[in-house]
Amino acid sequence: MSTTQAEVLILGAGIVGCALAHHLHRRGVRGTVVYDPRTPAAGASGRAAGVVTEQLWDRWDVEVTRESHREYAELCRRWEPGAYRQNGFVRFTTNPEAVPVLDEARDRLRAWGVEVEEATAADLARWIPAGRFDDVVGALYGRHDGCVTPSTVTTMYAESAREAGAVFDFGQPMLSLEWVESRWRLTTATGDVRARTLVVAAGAWSKALLARIGHPMPLTPYRTQAMLLRPPSATEEPFPTVHDVDVDVYLRPEDRGRILGGDGTEKVEADPERFVPGGDELFVAHMAETIASRFPGWGDSEVVSSWAGVCTSTPDRHPLVGPVPSSPALFVATGFNGFGVMRAGGVARRLADVLVDAPAEDEAREILGPAWPGRFHGMEPPFLPRPGFTLEGGDSPRF
Ligand SMILES: Cc1cc2nc3c(=O)[nH]c(=O)nc-3n(C[C@H](O)[C@H](O)[C@H](O)COP(=O)(O)OP(=O)(O)OC[C@H]3O[C@@H](n4cnc5c(N)ncnc54)[C@H](O)[C@@H]3O)c2cc1C
Repeated sequence: MSTTQAEVLILGAGIVGCALAHHLHRRGVRGTVVYDPRTPAAGASGRAAGVVTEQLWDRWDVEVTRESHREYAELCRRWEPGAYRQNGFVRFTTNPEAVPVLDEARDRLRAWGVEVEEATAADLARWIPAGRFDDVVGALYGRHDGCVTPSTVTTMYAESAREAGAVFDFGQPMLSLEWVESRWRLTTATGDVRARTLVVAAGAWSKALLARIGHPMPLTPYRTQAMLLRPPSATEEPFPTVHDVDVDVYLRPEDRGRILGGDGTEKVEADPERFVPGGDELFVAHMAETIASRFPGWGDSEVVSSWAGVCTSTPDRHPLVGPVPSSPALFVATGFNGFGVMRAGGVARRLADVLVDAPAEDEAREILGPAWPGRFHGMEPPFLPRPGFTLEGGDSPRF
């Protein structure tokens, strides 16, 4: 049995935990240990669609996502160019009642410095010849958005941190986790890690983990699904990621002319230890129906695979990033409500700054914005996850 002394112990080697290890090392922290009972990207990060868009709900999210986007483009350019594409993102509706909401979203996004353009049915038809858009009454397009292969970005962060000296401890079940003699102590079958600071970045597992150490936070894990399609003839141009707001279905280009798509949130709590990992019949039927009616040119696509992952929601749909209230040296980075890939790099950099600089509370709150965990006090009533990819924003939830 060995004992490893660490400055920071990160629980979870998803994109968030690995990005945090990378940023801590860039800030000069030595002695980071990343522990995961599985392997990097074994959770939601290995199952995500990887859409990165600035069509979001608040300025902080936009800034965080923009920073992540730049970082992913740079990392991929150096190490794995195929894992990144800047293909744009367009969402559309056929519902006249949704048009004012789309207009509000456009104005709000522009006020935050997001370059969005209105798109017409003709634009959509030009970008996606396989689609049928004659009944579209509103569309919002961001030409700078992109998408990534999330497992590859996770691996790049892990490798970069490992090269800089971070220790990765994988594949051993956790036996105990305790606060002992002013240190966190993690025990597995192979030894102990003793750390000054603990960061829980364990995705959907964070809820049970935080409760187990006596610091519950309001989190509800939920299942969400995606599928990979091979259309009858390969898509040639990388079309923009397209989101049909009316049925909450998105599709994006994948390599070798394939398409990756999904349909949002299951509104019931899921257990990350016992969820159904394959795409279910209802999901496959919903996707098939939407593709047949909206994208008839892709109607005969082969379903290469379909799968599910477990994400983590919060009562107000903002993440939980920062110090856990009334706890010793305990931080959290989770609750991304289905948008953790696009936020990971920017969130990890901010959290690394807070951990290294230890600013006064006001300044730390400023850095972590709406994700500040101290907005919740004690136990919150149970809540169900809400759909992720809506148009709602600011104080006016509409969809
Ligand atoms: C189908 C699908 C599509 C998605 N599409 C997008 C998208 O297009 N864009 C986007 O931004 N986001 C998307 N997401 C959401 C995104 O995947 C998540 O928000 C993000 O991956 C969360 O990363 P994470 O590192 O917090 O968690 P995870 O990747 O889930 O990592 C958590 C890790 O914690 C580990 N763990 C479990 N128990 C413990 C323990 N006791 N101690 C230590 N570690 C533990 C797990 O093994 C796991 O490796 C999608 C998700 C799914 C499922």
